[in-house]
Amino acid sequence: MLENKTILITGSSRGIGAATARLAKSYGAEVILHGKTDSQNLRDLASKLRSSYICCDVTDEEAVKRKVSRLENIDVLINNAGINPSKTFMELTNEDWRTIFETNVLGIVNFSRAVIPRMIEKKQGKIVNISSIKGLSHVEGKPAYAASKAAVIRLTSSMAEEFAPHGILVNAVAPGFTQTEMTKSTMSPKIHEQISRIPLGRMASPEEIAEAVLFLASDKANYITGQTIVVDGGYSLR
Ligand code: NDP
Repeated sequence: MLENKTILITGSSRGIGAATARLAKSYGAEVILHGKTDSQNLRDLASKLRSSYICCDVTDEEAVKRKVSRLENIDVLINNAGINPSKTFMELTNEDWRTIFETNVLGIVNFSRAVIPRMIEKKQGKIVNISSIKGLSHVEGKPAYAASKAAVIRLTSSMAEEFAPHGILVNAVAPGFTQTEMTKSTMSPKIHEQISRIPLGRMASPEEIAEAVLFLASDKANYITGQTIVVDGGYSLR
């Protein structure tokens, strides 16, 4: 499904990004991994998949530009890196708001800006951004995270329109509750209660999110752009 494609996946040291990398490799893609730090997770996955990897903070525009400029070719960029701090509106400082928006929104801008010029030259490319159901409709809690993920959805549609004439397709996936370290670290009685309301009765596996991401990355989605696909076990139907 992805043979002859080189896919750069941000935040692929663990969770949804790592699952997407493993699945992409099994579908025949060349994968370039990325993490904030040069972690053991990242090194182990790179050696298992026989992939290269880059490390940089997605918020550091210059570092992103420098690392991406050393890569030979990128057909698909998956903007997956993100953070999800559990703070209420009154607990959030302006510094928290800046960190969350700089990571979840400007991180996408930085990586996209670094890869798009070469996609324009080739007159083709695909970008898949990871949003969240919290950005799509109201889910109790985490106002800064929810606002940042809502921004990702509109950023996706705006980029899709701007780059469509260049053959670049931009879409998003909005996952629901997914079993990763991020969810483990933010688990609370309120989240347990929200999970109990998922119509399909369980959380997603990271691989189930990865399947939707890679569909959008593949040639099977050549007439889809500017869209957000919801993968949430029916949670947003409630
Ligand atoms: P994890 O916390 O498991 O992994 C996060 C990844 O992002 C890691 O690879 C981490 O790198 C990287 N990362 C975080 N901050 C930065 C940064 N500043 N610069 C570079 N890399 C960074 O997350 P998930 O797999 O759970 O989530 C992946 C995406 O899916 C996120 O955008 C998240 O918001 C979204 N999502 C997740 C849901 C869930 O239930 N898990 C639900 C809906 C959306 P490192 O290991 O080096 O720190």
